[in-house]
Amino acid sequence: MPATLPLAENAVTDPFGRRIEYLRVSLTDRCNLRCVYCMPEAGVPYEDLDNVLSFDEIERVVRVLGAAGLRKVRLTGGEPLVRKNVPELAARLVRVPGIREVTITTNGILLPRDADGLFAAGIRRVNLSMDTMRPERFVEIARRPEYARAWEGVEAALRVGFDPVKLNCVVMRGINDDEILDFARLTVDRPLSVRFLEYMPIGMVSPPQWKARYVSNEAVLDRLRAAFPDLAPLSDEQGSTSRNFRIPGARGTVGVINPISHRFCDGCNRLRLTANGKLIPCLSDNYEYDLMAPLRAGSTDGEILQHARDAVAHKPVQSDFEGRVYRGGSLRIMAQIGG
Ligand code: SAM
Ligand code: SF4
Repeated sequence: MPATLPLAENAVTDPFGRRIEYLRVSLTDRCNLRCVYCMPEAGVPYEDLDNVLSFDEIERVVRVLGAAGLRKVRLTGGEPLVRKNVPELAARLVRVPGIREVTITTNGILLPRDADGLFAAGIRRVNLSMDTMRPERFVEIARRPEYARAWEGVEAALRVGFDPVKLNCVVMRGINDDEILDFARLTVDRPLSVRFLEYMPIGMVSPPQWKARYVSNEAVLDRLRAAFPDLAPLSDEQGSTSRNFRIPGARGTVGVINPISHRFCDGCNRLRLTANGKLIPCLSDNYEYDLMAPLRAGSTDGEILQHARDAVAHKPVQSDFEGRVYRGGSLRIMAQIGG
């Protein structure tokens, strides 16, 4: 694929001139974990499978947007790999004209089964969620005794040759913030990109509950710099939301992602598609636009594209997580959005 493609003249653009080039596709709202920051312990009523977009429908949306400037697709969930035949979908999306990259975010549990298939499909980059290096703590955070299998997923990703293999760690005060340096040390010998994410107030979390657990990226960076005074900043990857660093001589990198500030809103090129066919223009906003009905009512490609434009017209200039949590919170939990 050429490194640079001409900019699509018919690009989907929001009211602030930002072009949509990146679609996060949630394949399912189901999950084999119950992470405390994402899902209630009892789970949530799952979407009826009739109301979940089929692979054909997902491919069609990607094809329509691919002809209008979409360049990157990330498969997410819920846990995307609990859905059957994800490598087959990945192979179909990789072939869509205009799409340069298909990636996946997974908790890794089913990756030993699917890593080869995903790599063969053309996926090269993978993000794994990993919040602890301690088995007993994994059960507290993910509420399932799957520590060993999750780490086997990390090993499978490295063995198969995904590059980079990113580990996303949601930092929570009093829960895992004492492991920041352990995760950073892991990058010395392993070619992993560890990224510390700020805890976002999404789902059924009250402002005090969120504030009690929230650790800012600056606090994470202070701890990293105190332990590794030679921590070297790396130049930003294009379109990346993380600030990255390397411990001198380390094989991997450490990074921080700060969704709570507006740091990356200026360059935001994202749109989200939920498993039940809603387009979500901003993670911090409850606004969603139904694409399922037009998809199933025989709309033409042109009409589908127009629906995407209508959805994107509602993209706010910048995120407002804090404002929303004080206004009553988000309508969806993170597993129903896809992160
Ligand atoms: N199940 C997959 C996984 O965990 O990687 C994909 C879906 S998950 C919703 C996507 C990402 O959202 C994960 O990296 C997870 O850590 C992150 N996430 C979920 N809830 C979050 C929250 N409240 N704050 C910050 N990140 C969150
Ligand atoms: Fe499942 Fe991912 Fe949410 Fe954890 S973060 S409950 S693995 S969807």
